[in-house]
Amino acid sequence: MDYDIIIIGAGPAGLCFARALAETGLEIALIEKQKEAVLAAPPYDGREIALTHLSHKTMGELGLLDKIPDEDISLIRDAQVLNGKSPYALYFDHEDAGEDNLGFMISNHMIRKAAYEVTKGFKNIHLMTGKEVSGVETDDTQGQITLKGGKKLTAKLIIAADSRFSQARDMMGISASKLDFGRTCIVCRMGSELPHDYTAYECFHYDRTLAILPLNNNNVSVVITLDSSEREDVLGLSDAEFGRDTAQRAEERFGAMNLIGKLHSYPLMAVYANSFYAQRFALIGDAAVGMHPVTAHGWNLGLKGACTLASEIKEALHTGGDIGGASHLRRYHLQHRKNTRPLYLGTNALVKLFTKDNIPARMARRALLRLGNHIGPAKRLIMNQLTENNKVA
Ligand SMILES: Cc1cc2nc3c(=O)[nH]c(=O)nc-3n(C[C@H](O)[C@H](O)[C@H](O)COP(=O)(O)OP(=O)(O)OC[C@H]3O[C@@H](n4cnc5c(N)ncnc54)[C@H](O)[C@@H]3O)c2cc1C
Repeated sequence: MDYDIIIIGAGPAGLCFARALAETGLEIALIEKQKEAVLAAPPYDGREIALTHLSHKTMGELGLLDKIPDEDISLIRDAQVLNGKSPYALYFDHEDAGEDNLGFMISNHMIRKAAYEVTKGFKNIHLMTGKEVSGVETDDTQGQITLKGGKKLTAKLIIAADSRFSQARDMMGISASKLDFGRTCIVCRMGSELPHDYTAYECFHYDRTLAILPLNNNNVSVVITLDSSEREDVLGLSDAEFGRDTAQRAEERFGAMNLIGKLHSYPLMAVYANSFYAQRFALIGDAAVGMHPVTAHGWNLGLKGACTLASEIKEALHTGGDIGGASHLRRYHLQHRKNTRPLYLGTNALVKLFTKDNIPARMARRALLRLGNHIGPAKRLIMNQLTENNKVA
């Protein structure tokens, strides 16, 4: 056997999973198709990740926060959800959450860089970069991966952390529910003329949704979702046109807005694997659950799942069990399903409701915002999901 565990994909999920197990002494191979230079200095990809308190705490425990300068961590103090041009908003106040802020914002490339830095120093973590996995198979004693070029490696357990388009998941015959929204997400960083007061805005216009999330230095992260047929029109705007258009769609709340850097676009597809494990094999991160970004939970759930599986493996080591055995993998599967399924289904339902432009959908949206504001338990449920601190009683 070459290794105890082979992880396919050194994105944030694969790296944090390896880091969570680093001190167990397990021999772990982490295989990534990108070059090491990209992992060490990932380029800015437009994604600013909204983190819950739980994720912030976990990233602290794994050492990632020590690698991220304070000025690169912004706070989300409060949040508002708006429906079209209606002045009525659903408010989320940090005081109701029993915290100084609802959540945190960190750029995805900073998370990736920090995850690489906290993982690379361990002698038992063998990072192989510039290597693509082209085959995976398992039997009741071991798992085997094949690299492009033909080299084969074996381990007691194979983990796929190779994105929502996971080929390893397909190669292991695990089906996944896929929901193609036919929409595109355009993200960028912008400067704002007026103060944002560290408030996140989610504006559901009928043709587009526009999220504006606070960043330090009065910058904001802009997340636009639109029909994919409009993608090229928006990407083709000049910086000045894009700035004016976004400021107008944000109802001039931020005054003039100017683009910093360039626009990045992502096709919107939600993916939910029908099982998170198979024989000596498990899925983590987006390979297990690829969320629509509107509720900003993809990475929060990915990190939680990586830690849940790492705990199961530590438990197996503790009790002298088999780290690739079905009982621990099944426990992870059940727990992660419980943690993710309601949010996944709820997010998809919300997306459908807020993109339909018929009268029943408009009425349902209006009712939902009012219910959210006036029905305590509904608001508490959303607040607990936003913060994951369980302080909202
Ligand atoms: C626009 C946008 C905004 C988002 N905002 C938020 C947010 O606010 N909050 C939040 O919690 N989440 C957010 N997310 C989700 C978050 O970005 C993802 O959940 C997270 O990045 C997934 O990490 P991962 O490691 O699972 O996958 P990835 O980051 O996709 O990494 C997969 C890795 O596997 C490698 N790989 C793939 N195939 C192979 C192979 N065959 N061999 C070797 N290596 C391979 C890839 O090169 C890559 O490095 C957002 C996502 C998007 C698109």
